[in-house]
Amino acid sequence: MASRDRFSKKLTCPQCNNTGFAEASEDDHPTRKHPGFQVDQLPTGFFEQRSSNFQESYIIKCQCGRKFPFRARTEAAEASQR
Ligand SMILES: [Zn+2]
Repeated sequence: MASRDRFSKKLTCPQCNNTGFAEASEDDHPTRKHPGFQVDQLPTGFFEQRSSNFQESYIIKCQCGRKFPFRARTEAAEASQR
């Protein structure tokens, strides 16, 4: 069984600046076709709009109505440069 990589990420709504920490996890297994990304807990004021196996296409909806991906593609690119 693949182990789960658990982490938290600070979400910030680009429209109303609502922030909070989401608890998420994904499979820590390089040969899988997809990471099996899953949000285990969303902070107050944020909701799941569309679930996805990928952080970049998992859509969060803020209480103000704004929708945005869990992780922006530019963010992922920055992280991989480290
Ligand atoms: Zn908002």
